[in-house]
Amino acid sequence: MSQSSPLQWSRRSALVNCAVAVLSVVAALVAALLLEPHMHSSPFVSLSLCAIMFSAWFGGFGPGLFATALSVAGFIYYFVPPIGFAVAPTDLPRIVLLAVTALFVVWLNVARRGTESALRRSEAYLADAQRLSHTGSFGWRIGSGDIIWSKETYRIFGVDETVKPTIDLILQRVHPDDREFVLHEIDRAALGKPSYDYEHRLLMPNGAIKHLTVRTHRVKYESGEEELVGALMDVTATREAQEALRTSQAELARVARVTALGQMSASIAHEVNQPLAAIATAAAAGLRWLTREVPEIGEARACVSHIVEEANRAGEVIRSVRDLAKRADPELISLDINEVVDEAVALVKPEALRHCVTVELQLASGLPLVRGDRVQLQQVIINLAINGVQAMATVTDRARVLTIRTEQRESDQVLVAVQDVGIGMEPDGLDRLFSAFYTTKPDGMGMGLSICRSIIEAHGGRVWASRNIGSGMTFQFTVSAHR
Ligand code: ADP
Repeated sequence: MSQSSPLQWSRRSALVNCAVAVLSVVAALVAALLLEPHMHSSPFVSLSLCAIMFSAWFGGFGPGLFATALSVAGFIYYFVPPIGFAVAPTDLPRIVLLAVTALFVVWLNVARRGTESALRRSEAYLADAQRLSHTGSFGWRIGSGDIIWSKETYRIFGVDETVKPTIDLILQRVHPDDREFVLHEIDRAALGKPSYDYEHRLLMPNGAIKHLTVRTHRVKYESGEEELVGALMDVTATREAQEALRTSQAELARVARVTALGQMSASIAHEVNQPLAAIATAAAAGLRWLTREVPEIGEARACVSHIVEEANRAGEVIRSVRDLAKRADPELISLDINEVVDEAVALVKPEALRHCVTVELQLASGLPLVRGDRVQLQQVIINLAINGVQAMATVTDRARVLTIRTEQRESDQVLVAVQDVGIGMEPDGLDRLFSAFYTTKPDGMGMGLSICRSIIEAHGGRVWASRNIGSGMTFQFTVSAHR
């Protein structure tokens, strides 16, 4: 809180205030006695009013009243004949007039002091609130170009309070990557946009980056003058916390992907081994065709083509595994959800086959593109599919089928559903499914579905589970279509 006056005023001792009142009235009296011989009339009344005004301004109502009493007494004693405290009835009106005028002056002073102190207090509260909420305020008179900043705005910009703020100074502090955007917003504001609300960064001289949200509106005064009044909030701490959260969520998701890959490693190794074996066989056959007395170039070429195909197949599996395992910040791009499903299924299929599960795809055609991170969406599908495969591991009385379906939901949503015919679950378990660490598997971590939910929510979608009418469960999620 500002160290300033209101509290100091009230704490100042009564003794000092009274001493000031006495000294002021005595000074007025001495000056009047010294000046009187040189003047037509006594200057005491004017001088004592000055003394009373000063006492009331300095000490408030009590000292003002005290100075009034002293002045009236001094007036009667020195300036109303005969000398002494005797008063003739004809002099009474003069004395009463002095007393009433003095009281009026005291009252005016005290009232003004009260207003000033209330104003100072409210300014102190405002400054305090701005400092605590990291919110500065500013005004920009469009006509004159004058800019006014609050204390907190100076602090946020890291500028000394003696410096006059200008648009150039603001732009100097704005992060170079945001400068063009901020300049554009300032231009739009100058050209009459009634209000604006945006976020940008500052690059401080020490290299630190601050994040600001700025909100303004235009005020038109009766004089016709227009001012842009606004508030800016330093949201650096919030943005840094969000960034840290995003990073740890991405890291957690990556760990979950690597764990899922670990679970599928046997099937993946098999998936890579198959083309390698085919390559070896085709290469041996090719060699045989070439080493004949009359080499069979056509046959050898067919073998080499086969080798290329199989090598690509193996390469594709390895690429998918590497994408899932590598540390990568989410990258939002336009995606064909059916392609994402195909890629995920390519990784899951060997695992499904190992558990005698048939994967059935029902992919709708003509779906709009979605906006998302390819690897993260694949991760969700793999997770739901592996859960489905595991839920069917003990099923023996029906065909183990995992159905993955895509369809359009409303105009701007695409839906992916993963349906199994597994053991299902009790209805009361549905609420806990997506909570972290909820698992019913002996070696489960219970993080898969919780990570799926945070990924889907970060994509502006929703994920939910329902029990099938027959057996098993269906997990579905939506993702926003890319506009
Ligand atoms: P984890 O697989 O490590 O247990 P998840 O978060 O993926 O972690 O799953 C949490 C729990 O949800 C599982 O332990 C299981 O009880 C239940 N669950 C998930 N998918 C299915 C499913 N398709 N059918 C039945 N229960 C399921």
